[in-house]
Amino acid sequence: MTWRATVLTLFPEMFPGPLGHSLAGRALERGLWSLDARDLRAHGLGRHRAVDDTPFGGGAGMVLRPDVIDAAISDVADDRPIVVLTPRGRPLTQSRVQALAAGPGVVLLCGRFEGIDQRVIEHRAMAEISVGDYVLSGGETAALVLLDACIRLLPGVMGASDSGTEESFSDGLLEYPHYTRPAEWCGRAVPEILLSGNHAAIAAWRQTAAETITQTLRPDLWAAYQSTKGHAS
Ligand code: SAH
Repeated sequence: MTWRATVLTLFPEMFPGPLGHSLAGRALERGLWSLDARDLRAHGLGRHRAVDDTPFGGGAGMVLRPDVIDAAISDVADDRPIVVLTPRGRPLTQSRVQALAAGPGVVLLCGRFEGIDQRVIEHRAMAEISVGDYVLSGGETAALVLLDACIRLLPGVMGASDSGTEESFSDGLLEYPHYTRPAEWCGRAVPEILLSGNHAAIAAWRQTAAETITQTLRPDLWAAYQSTKGHAS
């Protein structure tokens, strides 16, 4: 079954962009997912196909009109969740990505300018998702991030050898560090244990390394990991 992505944007030519290459690009060619990037301007009003207007209450910038957005959604809405990319949304997480990838696909709404009229977000019960606590110039790059993360989890996209079961966030920890040849480089040796062939010892070393890295780099993830494992300190 094809996982279907529809993107509503003022810049449909930005898609598939980077998702036309490598893993996602090959999966697109093989029909493991499909992409339909729609121009919001097609639903614009009047001779100039206006999609935005000045904000009620005053202030800088322009706001995307609810009637224009709603018409664009009517054209494509089905059983898929509708996601609006916005800095005020819930931060995108691997578990959210997994849930989206397990469904039929997604309709993504990309904002521009100051943002989107709040009423259409509520009227269409959109899920508001952010890709981080910083402001982008538009939702398109955020949509590419979300799609990339979902597509690599679709069945058949990644080979069995690089399946996503051991990677960062899959068990609440960051991943252990990786090493390849040469065994010694610039005076730095690969950790001895990785050359030992002792798989149990290697697994134990990797678990400890993942815990140490998470504790050091992401104390927030570490605290959450400890509380789910029932040994919060
Ligand atoms: N005035 C808004 C920012 C608008 S940025 C504010 O202060 O919150 C223009 C568009 O870029 C937004 O409508 C949204 O679609 C997108 N965007 C910006 N930052 C984003 C982020 N961190 N995550 C997801 N989308 C983002």
